[in-house]
Amino acid sequence: MVTVLFATGNDGKAKEVKNIYSKTKFDIKSLKDIGDYSDIVEDGLTLKENALIKARFIYEKYKVPVIADDTGLEVEQLDGAPGVYSARYAGENCSYDDNNNKLITELADKDEPHNAKFVCYAVYFDGENEIVVKGEFPGRIINEKAGEYGFGYDPIFVPDGEKTTLAEMSLEQKNKISHRAKAFNNLKEKMIQL
Ligand code: IMP
Repeated sequence: MVTVLFATGNDGKAKEVKNIYSKTKFDIKSLKDIGDYSDIVEDGLTLKENALIKARFIYEKYKVPVIADDTGLEVEQLDGAPGVYSARYAGENCSYDDNNNKLITELADKDEPHNAKFVCYAVYFDGENEIVVKGEFPGRIINEKAGEYGFGYDPIFVPDGEKTTLAEMSLEQKNKISHRAKAFNNLKEKMIQL
C-alpha cells in the first residue's frame, strides 16, 4: 500500500474520498488521522491555487505523497461569485446559513433560473509529480432552503436533472454525482498510471 495524506481536516470529505480510493493501492489518511490539526492559510486567488497551496504545504511538512482539494460555487448571474470566496461569502466566521441567506438576497431581483455550478479542483503532489484535475457539478440556486442533509450550499442547490436540493438527498446519493466525486475519481485514475 502507498500511504497518501489528504490535506483536509473535514471528516465528511475524508470519508467520501477514502471511499473513492477504497479498492486501490492507495491508503488515504486525513490530517486528523495523524493528529495534525494545522490550519492551512488558503490565500490563493483561485480554487486551483488554493488546492495546490494545501498539497504543497503538507508535502513540505511530511515529504510523503499528498492529495488536496478546493471547491467553490459559481453563480452565472453573479459573474462566478462567490467562487473562491464560497466559504466566507457572508464574512469571516460566518455560518453556512449566513452564506445561503446572502446568496438568496443577492439573487432576489434576478430572473429564474439562477444557473450555478460547483467547481472542485483536486490535486496530487509527491515532490516530483503534480496532477491537477477539475470536477464540475451544474445546477441552479433556488430561493427557499429545503433539506437537512449535507452542508454548505446544499439546501439551495438543485442539480441539473434532479427535482430536489442536495440537502434532500442521502449522502450516498450525493457522493455518486458530486463535483468532488468527479474530481477525485479522475485524480485516482491518473494516480494509478504514475
Ligand atoms: P472547500 O474548499 O471544499 O472547503 O469548500 C469551500 C466552500 O464551498 C464550503 O465552505 C462550502 O460553503 C462550499 N462547498 C464545497 N463543497 C460543497 C458541497 O458539496 N455542497 C455545498 N457546499 C459546498
